[in-house]
Amino acid sequence: MIYADNAATTKTSPLAQKAMLDAMERFWGNPSSLHTPGQQAKEAMQFAREAVAKAIGAQPREIYFTSGGSEADNQTIVSAARVGAKKGKKHLITTAIEHHAILHTMDQMAKEGFEITLIPVDESGIVKVSDVAAAIREDTALVSVMYANNEIGTIQPVAEIGALCRERGIPFHTDAVQAVGHLPIDVNAQNIDMLSLSGHKFHGPRGVGALYVRRGAPLLTFIQGGAQESGRRAGTENLPAIMGMAAALEDAVDHMEENAAHAIQLRDALIDGLSKIPHSALNGDRTRRLPGNVNFCFEGIEGESLLLLLDDKGIAASSGSACTSGSLDPSHVLLAIGRPHEVAHGSLRLTLDRENTMEDVEAIVKAVTEVVNYLREMSPVWKALQRGERQYVIQ
Ligand SMILES: *Cc1c(COP(=O)(O)O)cnc(C)c1O
Repeated sequence: MIYADNAATTKTSPLAQKAMLDAMERFWGNPSSLHTPGQQAKEAMQFAREAVAKAIGAQPREIYFTSGGSEADNQTIVSAARVGAKKGKKHLITTAIEHHAILHTMDQMAKEGFEITLIPVDESGIVKVSDVAAAIREDTALVSVMYANNEIGTIQPVAEIGALCRERGIPFHTDAVQAVGHLPIDVNAQNIDMLSLSGHKFHGPRGVGALYVRRGAPLLTFIQGGAQESGRRAGTENLPAIMGMAAALEDAVDHMEENAAHAIQLRDALIDGLSKIPHSALNGDRTRRLPGNVNFCFEGIEGESLLLLLDDKGIAASSGSACTSGSLDPSHVLLAIGRPHEVAHGSLRLTLDRENTMEDVEAIVKAVTEVVNYLREMSPVWKALQRGERQYVIQ
């Protein structure tokens, strides 16, 4: 099987697995206990916190472990909103291409009386800093812009937006789940106040993530109980997952440059190969995208059948995001970059990383070309296009 769905999840690396076993065998105590096994676990957790902090240029006390990216996103949005509301600020800014962990939380906040501004993106899938500047108001409680998009991989001008928010005194959050471990991040240089990350997007385990919150930035407690995580998240810590995540992140940061160079080489070859398919189009900017991200639309093709036939040929890919495939809604990201409904249904996302090879890329190009041709031969829409009874959306 060629695994080309690394944006959905990555394989837990041997290093991460080893750290998790270590946690279970040697650091099984409760970090809140005062006895020796407890204190050993507490110390191991502190090492993990330092590693996660270091990876993004933060202080260890600014890192709160969570159950993943979704929880981190939820907690930070709700916290900033409610703290803002106490000062009469009931306006929140985000973008049209966020992950549903952000968008659905924003919907929830709208029900609680907040006004939400969704910043659009241009056809290359990138937010304009001037649009964010124009949206900021006296009563803006939070700006949240994702670091890199999970569907089309586009990288947002986070540092510029951070500088703008700093100037206006508005807390700035970024969902960096797709970026951490893949792109260099420095929360101070980039003026980031809050940041979400998730273990399983950089070869750590799933069900664990972290929220970075700059000292003084808003953070309310979601899960009530004990005093874990400085009282911001109760519950006995999932030390195996935390240690696995920290080991995976250290490894990802140590090898970031070579991993990115490798993924970019494969990505660009894959884009070149798939571009040769007639009436195909790359979604998202050609270069301002995650190292391993490729996302294409093919005219006249339905995403689900493409995926199933590729799976038969031994290629694991995805259409849009894992959360939207399985539902019949077109991707909100593809709609945001201006793809019409009929095309937004038929996208293919291939996300490569350090474990993929150039042979994988060649096999993918061959398989996708065959499957697209096969599906088009059977498609009434394609026949109508060819007879000139319909207009091509993708030239
Ligand atoms: C995967 C992902 C999430 C959710 O993270 P989980 O750890 O799976 O909850 C949030 N945002 C983005 C951009 C993601 O890619």
